[in-house]
Amino acid sequence: MGELASSGETMEGKPSSILVLAELADGKLAPIVFEVVGLARQMADSMQETIRAVVFGRGAAAAGPQMIAAGADTVYVTDSADFVEYQPDVWLAALANVVRQSPVRLVLMGHTNLGADLAPRLAFRLGGAVATNCEAATIDGDKLLITRPCYGNKARSIVWLKKLPAVVTVRAKSRMPVEPDPRRVGEVMDIARPADQASRRSRVIDRRAYAFEGPQLESARVVVAGGRGVGGPEGFRLLESLAQTLGAVVGASRVACDLGWCPLSMQIGLTGKTIAPDLYVAVGISGASQHMAGCGGAKTILAINMDPQAPIFDEATLGVVGDYKELIPRVIEEVRRLKADS
Ligand SMILES: Cc1cc2nc3c(=O)[nH]c(=O)nc-3n(C[C@H](O)[C@H](O)[C@H](O)COP(=O)(O)OP(=O)(O)OC[C@H]3O[C@@H](n4cnc5c(N)ncnc54)[C@H](O)[C@@H]3O)c2cc1C
Repeated sequence: MGELASSGETMEGKPSSILVLAELADGKLAPIVFEVVGLARQMADSMQETIRAVVFGRGAAAAGPQMIAAGADTVYVTDSADFVEYQPDVWLAALANVVRQSPVRLVLMGHTNLGADLAPRLAFRLGGAVATNCEAATIDGDKLLITRPCYGNKARSIVWLKKLPAVVTVRAKSRMPVEPDPRRVGEVMDIARPADQASRRSRVIDRRAYAFEGPQLESARVVVAGGRGVGGPEGFRLLESLAQTLGAVVGASRVACDLGWCPLSMQIGLTGKTIAPDLYVAVGISGASQHMAGCGGAKTILAINMDPQAPIFDEATLGVVGDYKELIPRVIEEVRRLKADS
């Protein structure tokens, strides 16, 4: 690998490649990686550059060829014990090392908990620039322009990153994932080496997972979500029966989570999850822009709300004005009847 002349140079500096940090979830490439590679491939093709990828953690070796199929040209993998858990200091040192040893002007990663934590650290360490939660990146002449949502998803800002390397996190569900092509060829290199123990200033001592069955909110095709209008945890039990009837997953507004009616993992919106189901049923949710930032990508939005003036009706494909407590039992009954007839 060649030496990077200097980190922190401006776009007038020499062109170089794009690096993708490919995150693993339960030993497999996380779904967002395929969106990130899609963006990387689009940029690499327009700039006639190559894509390098880094995979850290258990399952990295098997993920290497999958990254080539997804669109990377060279993949660096390590599944050594030091990288099984995300350790910010250790990962930062290792990733910065890869960037320093190969010519990179853009580092892309998913806007996940890990990406949001690591990206600013990496940019600072390398003397570069950072932009988080981005939807698009383009080159205009010698300018690297990044598009990101602002004002609760109502507008887009375009940011010019003047420093190299630029570290960018990509927002989930903002792009079509790439279809892997198993015929693609590239190089997978094992960079296993012990972590720099001197860099380790924190350690994961425990990890607790919520017991969770059934599909995840992010991948569900149908989501039934409740807000303050549901009135309490017992209201969510009615939503669960509707979800069961429809084969859906239950989500919530921030208010419903803040009030303790639902765990935070169910929150949809700007500071929660971003989803793009085929059908989104919003029950007792007013439709604040911060909420819609997480579900505006749904193909069909059905809103149930008592207030005909609620802003959710401006966003909804279909709307029903009324009390959900009266409407939902009737919907459940009707769906069950239709299912029994078919
Ligand atoms: C920086 C920031 C980030 C935020 N991030 C998020 C986020 O990620 N996700 C999020 O959701 N919010 C977020 N918010 C909060 C957001 O602005 C709203 O306050 C919140 O979404 C409102 O939640 P809600 O729709 O459940 O409640 P409300 O706005 O109180 O709406 C309740 C609705 O229920 C209706 N209703 C009442 N009773 C019934 C009934 N019996 N049947 C049918 N309808 C009924 C009412 O007419 C009303 O429209 C954020 C805010 C800020 C400032």
